[in-house]
Amino acid sequence: MKNIAIFGSTGSIGQNTLEVIRGLKNQFRVVALTANSNIELLYRQIKSFRPSVVCVKDRQLARSLRRRLGSSDLNILVGEIGLEELAGYKGIDQIVMAISGSGALKPLLSAIENCKTIALANKEALVMAGALIMQRACVKKARIIPVDSEQSAIWQCLEGEDKSRVRSIYLTASGGPFFNTPKEKLKHVSVAKVLEHPRWRMGKKISVDSATLINKGLELLEAMYLFDISAQKIKVLIHPQAIVHSMVEFVDGVVMAELSATDMRIPIQYALSYPKRLLSKLKPLDFYKLKELDFRPPDFVKFPCLRLAYQVAEEGGTAPSVLNAADEVAVAEFLKGKIAFLGIPKLIEKVLSRHRNKNNPGLSDIFLADRWAREESAAILEKGVK
Ligand code: NDP
Ligand code: MG
Repeated sequence: MKNIAIFGSTGSIGQNTLEVIRGLKNQFRVVALTANSNIELLYRQIKSFRPSVVCVKDRQLARSLRRRLGSSDLNILVGEIGLEELAGYKGIDQIVMAISGSGALKPLLSAIENCKTIALANKEALVMAGALIMQRACVKKARIIPVDSEQSAIWQCLEGEDKSRVRSIYLTASGGPFFNTPKEKLKHVSVAKVLEHPRWRMGKKISVDSATLINKGLELLEAMYLFDISAQKIKVLIHPQAIVHSMVEFVDGVVMAELSATDMRIPIQYALSYPKRLLSKLKPLDFYKLKELDFRPPDFVKFPCLRLAYQVAEEGGTAPSVLNAADEVAVAEFLKGKIAFLGIPKLIEKVLSRHRNKNNPGLSDIFLADRWAREESAAILEKGVK
């Protein structure tokens, strides 16, 4: 029995993780759950999975959760400090880090300092502080197992291989909802259209990121840090069927790929069960029905966010944190209807152009760059993104 803590259990990855665990009850026990503010769903998850500790955003939410639970010896922690404390709990064997956005960085670092095994879904923390995270994880011998389907694929293809023998990594992308939409038509796309991803059901932030293709840019940075491979070797490949989750080409011309159904429960289950492979109840891929697997190059002009991500990957330093923070602000503004879809890359590019990069940043430099990018974004938004 592995004791599992799910950080961000009320989100898309969090709920999928609970579904995987429900199907494998004799293998995993849920000991901790966290939500930001959705205590309605957290309450139902507590009733179903009976964790011994949870964490919510603030004291007010903790009080109303306590009231709903009545007499219960559940331990309720609050805020970022609560998340950091929880990451060090002795009774946790493995943490699933499924909090979205930069809010995952501090609890992730705490999990590493406490030598936990981490199934990492969150990508923003790696983008912000990838070098530092991987260095601390190495020192602390904290194992990081990727959950993001592309990273899980690359990680499986690299298992037992000599990384110096890698020629290229092909990071596949479904292309998002606007793969076939002409650039002129992207001016007036609605929030609802942006959230209609053709292949995956996900949280709002990552759905918008998939439509601008910055999600693939974030994954480029994620892969660069996770596998210690230069960005020049990582090639984005549009693959609309989303069956090949990424590929690794070696110097001898051999290409290894991971193929599976388009269902996050597959990489989540493997991140939990590793190194074992457990029986899955999901429908297997039917190769007799799969008519074609297409691959195309990405359009860097239609999707400037991808170009910006490569630029930032080359620059390193604090530039990735700035890209990430500007994107978080831009996506939030877009979801509120305050900026147009094409305003997202415009805002990110403008903020990046004003940034003075700092190489080999420490954690405080990274947080400073993050705050600066948010303030700069706000200042630009006040005047309007053109
Ligand atoms: P969701 O928006 O669906 O869920 C986010 C979760 O994090 C919720 O539980 C939310 O709580 C919680 N949360 C959000 N902000 C904070 C914060 N500041 N502090 C504490 N908790 C917080 O996101 P997804 O599940 O889609 O994605 C999670 C992460 O996994 C992202 O980084 C994403 O890029 C990555 N990922 C997601 C995939 C997917 O298929 N969804 C695929 C690959 C990677 P509440 O519900 O209370 O707001
Ligand atoms: Mg992905």
